[in-house]
Amino acid sequence: MKNYKHLKPILLLTSIVLFMSCKSDKNNEALNAIKVVSVNPDYFIVDNIIGKITQETVELDGTPTLCYVFQTNSRPSEHQMGPWCPRHIDDAKEKGGIWFDDGKVYDVDGHFIAELAEFYEDDAWKVFREDGSVKYTGTQEECEGAAKPDVEEAYQNYCVECLPKYYKDQVTTYTIPVTPVYTSREQRFRRGAIGVAFNGVNFDPPAPTEAILAAHTIAPLDDQGGHVNPHGGYHYHAATGFTKEVNQADVHAPMLGYAMDGFGIYALLDANEKQPIDLDNCGGHEDETRGYHYHAGEPGGNQVIKCLHGVAGNAFVQE
Ligand SMILES: [Zn+2]
Ligand SMILES: [Zn+2]
Repeated sequence: MKNYKHLKPILLLTSIVLFMSCKSDKNNEALNAIKVVSVNPDYFIVDNIIGKITQETVELDGTPTLCYVFQTNSRPSEHQMGPWCPRHIDDAKEKGGIWFDDGKVYDVDGHFIAELAEFYEDDAWKVFREDGSVKYTGTQEECEGAAKPDVEEAYQNYCVECLPKYYKDQVTTYTIPVTPVYTSREQRFRRGAIGVAFNGVNFDPPAPTEAILAAHTIAPLDDQGGHVNPHGGYHYHAATGFTKEVNQADVHAPMLGYAMDGFGIYALLDANEKQPIDLDNCGGHEDETRGYHYHAGEPGGNQVIKCLHGVAGNAFVQE
């Protein structure tokens, strides 16, 4: 099995963002001391943006806030998408994507598919036929029957993959504060984008692995950390180092994109392969150069960032 720990984190997409807040307020003095850096729209890859990035005043959390607004088709230009499900239990790892369990990343090769019953210690798993062919969702209808919380009976024990071409006309509109507003309260996400990579693909909240596994399905990510769902198209659950990065002048980890609150998301490891040791509950910290910002979690963690510390914008998908 390949170990992805050394890889640098990536990001990305879905529908309307709803946030649930918790935690108590700190004092305002501490708040005022937090340094913030405005969003740099030039970091986004022009080819991946539909039209231009505009500025609009939008009400966020009841406050009129100047925001960048832009649209994308959620299709990366710097890497391919897929593959996800191998086709035969003899297939090598190049024919499939990755899956994660308990913090670790595994290659979804034919062997992994063949051994699922053993892996999960559950004899009900059998995602392949007697001839060794893998049961995967090969059409849009099959993907939509399987890629939902109540997986249709017919697609239990399937490897689930939806192809980007089924949803190529979907447009995602992002609204992100021009200058992030730090809040002492942690904002937990419930669904929808938590951030966006520079290629316009969203970083999603954790994949609902319990629901997926309960139906004896797996929905692999590709090696780039992404897969497709019918309501948001291609999106990332892990940062694995394939998307555009903005290198830093110092040893700090490269930047990968922006969270929905406008704070930057950076890779996990710095130029010396070291992780930050002072991250808060959301995965953020502050420094003089970058102000408050996040670091993406390890790819096996099913979590790019854990919560937001700023007033969130939103992402909206037109299907
Ligand atoms: Zn997903
Ligand atoms: Zn940092």
